[in-house]
Amino acid sequence: MSETRPIVAFATHNAHKIDEVYSILRERVPGLERGHLLSAAEAGAPAPVESGISYEQNALIKARELSRLTGLPAIADDSGLSVDVMGGAPGIFSALWSGRHGADRENLELLLAQMEDIPDANRQAAFVCAAVMVHPDGREITEMGIMGGKLTREPAGARGFGYDPIFIACGQSVTNAELDPEVKNAISHRGAAFRALAPHVAALLPR
Ligand code: IMP
Repeated sequence: MSETRPIVAFATHNAHKIDEVYSILRERVPGLERGHLLSAAEAGAPAPVESGISYEQNALIKARELSRLTGLPAIADDSGLSVDVMGGAPGIFSALWSGRHGADRENLELLLAQMEDIPDANRQAAFVCAAVMVHPDGREITEMGIMGGKLTREPAGARGFGYDPIFIACGQSVTNAELDPEVKNAISHRGAAFRALAPHVAALLPR
């Protein structure tokens, strides 16, 4: 019986995110199994301080640290929501916009309150994702993905996470939180960034 060994570490403690990224990658990387990915949680690695000032810098901080700790190539992403009329905020502060890291409901309620007086025609926003791979020898690869759309006035839908209930992507008529996960992955910022990274993951598979 052959055992699947991890070939790449993934710098997240979020089970939802590793499932989402695995399902994006496996469509582009024939032979990729869940066991080929070692999450930071599975590796027992702590989350580093995200002191960067861009999505790319924060993703690189996470991947460099995890590659150093595991000795494996490491992938990481950093993402957020940029609202046009707010000059790109919440941006890299998306996860802690209301003051507490990962308080999804409070974050989106604060954003809706801040945007209350802004008319429908000026509610454009975009999700942005930087996906990176860092090799133990120091090689680094960065790919970016963007999903444009607009903010609603009320949350709708129970799928997804974060700001999904208040975001309608271009070409859609319902929020991200009402979309099938496969549909969201096909159009999402994270989908685009990790599909671009997929050939670099494929190159790590044993032949
Ligand atoms: P991180 O990349 O895990 O640090 O996520 C940053 C934050 O951006 C999340 O906590 C969410 O608030 C927001 N975010 C990033 N991607 C998405 C998405 O696909 N849907 C909804 N919110 C997102």
